[in-house]
Amino acid sequence: MRQNYTEEDIEVITRQLDREPRNLVGIAKRCKDGYPQVLVTYPIFEENEELKLFPTTYWLSCPKLIEWIFTLESEGLVQQVQEEIMADCKKQQELITAHEDYAQRRVELLSNSDLTKLKEEYPGRWRVISQSGIGGIMEKEGIKCLHTHYADFLINQKNPVGKIVDNLLQARFSEVNLDNCSICDEE
Ligand SMILES: [Zn+2]
Repeated sequence: MRQNYTEEDIEVITRQLDREPRNLVGIAKRCKDGYPQVLVTYPIFEENEELKLFPTTYWLSCPKLIEWIFTLESEGLVQQVQEEIMADCKKQQELITAHEDYAQRRVELLSNSDLTKLKEEYPGRWRVISQSGIGGIMEKEGIKCLHTHYADFLINQKNPVGKIVDNLLQARFSEVNLDNCSICDEE
């Protein structure tokens, strides 16, 4: 994808995550104040002349959203949302589609040379990149982390787990719609 971020964005992201962003290729979504909210990360990186995987393509960077979702997770919401999805055939199918879609978008980020190299030299890792779902999980009914699903939801509003999380956030945290963030604002 075309680079759509500035040096200033990198500074904001570094404050948001408390570290420099890794494997950044773009910003998928910004909040109302224009700060990075969902980052796009490249699916692989090279370390000691070896290709390693980075299967989480969409990375939530807004500190408030990260914190609120941690609160939900600490209350056992991963399991609860999982059960809600499993009890509903339509949502189950939507989740499978979201996982497949995610894998496809991840593959599309790869350069032609990286694509060829992965397929030829790292068939196992190619399988993970091309077939694993949101957050890199292989079984398509699994959830694991609400952050990854919410990041995906923020981009296209299709992820059924992210939709549930969104409703929970709206109900629980009144400032969700305000979108302004002291951490991002800080100079
Ligand atoms: Zn999480």
